[in-house]
Amino acid sequence: MKVLVINCGSSSLKYQVLDMTNEVLLCKGLVERIGMEGAVITHEKIGMDKFKLVVPMKDHKEAIGHVLEAVQDENHGVVKSMDEIGAVGHRVVHAGEKYAHSVLITEEVLKALEECVELAPLHNPPNLAGIAACQALMPKTPMVAVFDTAFHQTMPPESYIYAIPYEYYQKHGIRRYGFHGTSHKYVAERAADIMNCALDDLKIITCHLGNGASVSAIKRGKCIDTSMGFTPLEGLVMGTRSGDIDPAIVTYIRDKENLEAGVANDILNKKSGVLGISGISSDFRDIEEAAAEGNERAQLALKVFAHKVRFYIGAYIAEMNGVDAIVFTAGVGENDIEMRDIICNDLGNLGIKLDLVKNKVRGKETIISRDDSRVKIILIPTNEELMIARDTYDITKNLK
Ligand code: AMP
Repeated sequence: MKVLVINCGSSSLKYQVLDMTNEVLLCKGLVERIGMEGAVITHEKIGMDKFKLVVPMKDHKEAIGHVLEAVQDENHGVVKSMDEIGAVGHRVVHAGEKYAHSVLITEEVLKALEECVELAPLHNPPNLAGIAACQALMPKTPMVAVFDTAFHQTMPPESYIYAIPYEYYQKHGIRRYGFHGTSHKYVAERAADIMNCALDDLKIITCHLGNGASVSAIKRGKCIDTSMGFTPLEGLVMGTRSGDIDPAIVTYIRDKENLEAGVANDILNKKSGVLGISGISSDFRDIEEAAAEGNERAQLALKVFAHKVRFYIGAYIAEMNGVDAIVFTAGVGENDIEMRDIICNDLGNLGIKLDLVKNKVRGKETIISRDDSRVKIILIPTNEELMIARDTYDITKNLK
């Protein structure tokens, strides 16, 4: 069965078609500037050159229409007609407490997801727009929703309850949810495969370090804690997000800087993180270049970032009473040799010993710990699309 995977953002959309009989990627693409001037689709049939098409797209439905055309294109397509697509898998960011697993999309599911829009006002609406567009254009094809929050639903209450009046949890659903769940789950499963162990026998700390970043504690295959919370703002220092701060800072900055409501939130989401500290960029490559030239704020940004990752690794070792593997994934985790080195430096007493030679690798599944390291350190490129396709295939393969 061929599965189309759709990941809709507010003005962009990523897609892939995979053949799930052998889990092979057939084509992938990106639509940018949906609803704006200069909307463009970039499509790549695997093994062929990419093609780019600048074409007006006023909304997600028109964007999906162009995706379906590209997928069926005579030269660059991978199917003759959309009937060959057995199912569509949609990434949906927030399912609140409603779903701990991926689900077949029904009217009832859509209603439940509408109710979650309040919890993720920036993310869920474009995800739902993508589903509506696909349903309109492929009315007979089954659709599955795969949630960023689902994998973290196994967290125990002591991990997800905030110490604020309990009625806010009851009335407004204010609790820790966690994000990047599809990625954490994928790399944990790969780590078990690579170690040739059952996931059930392992304690794993997964570090998804990209522009957004989070760490999870995974015990016997279940997430028991993760660093992102009610929103993706909590936890690690990120490209432009502050991560954990004293909440009193919010009102303090607002008063000192005379900020309008909402601006403080914007500052913490878009102007903070390593960008805020360094004043240079949210991209670790730029910051490392500046740090190498002696820029002290760039050096500080890297140290603060690493400090927070180490802080969570330590916390999760305590929570799980040990760890068997630490996994690095996403843009920084997969590519940033220097950052992995700083994070893993001087953890020998915890049985964590990075091999500095093996660590000189980018974007490739590799064990990078020393042979005498009790804890395996593993680099695993994430593959959220494959995970979405797998869930979609599993849920729909026996439907008539
Ligand atoms: P992601 O959000 O997972 O796509 O990660 C994007 C981030 O990965 C970029 O903003 C960079 O900071 C980082 N990144 C990508 N490649 C490298 C590299 N070679 N060295 C350091 N950081 C990198």
